[in-house]
Amino acid sequence: MFVIYIHHDVPVHVRSDLKGKHREHCLCYSCNRFKPDSKENCRIAKEVYAVCVREHVVLPVWECPKFETIKASLEEEEEDEEE
Ligand code: SF4
Repeated sequence: MFVIYIHHDVPVHVRSDLKGKHREHCLCYSCNRFKPDSKENCRIAKEVYAVCVREHVVLPVWECPKFETIKASLEEEEEDEEE
């Protein structure tokens, strides 16, 4: 099921079960490199954000080779073939 709502003055479509869940799913919010209010912010995160602003989309980062965890919270899971 999808809903339409106004996001930053633009009507957007979103899956109703994912509306407002961006931070919950995005790796960046658990990453040491994510510094959105700083010039030191991650280059990838800045590029993702630029696309979001330009295209009025929301793009959570699900997978990232540069992720640097804030806490010792990595689970020892070696599976990497999931698609
Ligand atoms: S390194 Fe990856 S997870 Fe970390 S802030 Fe950058 S894009 Fe996000």
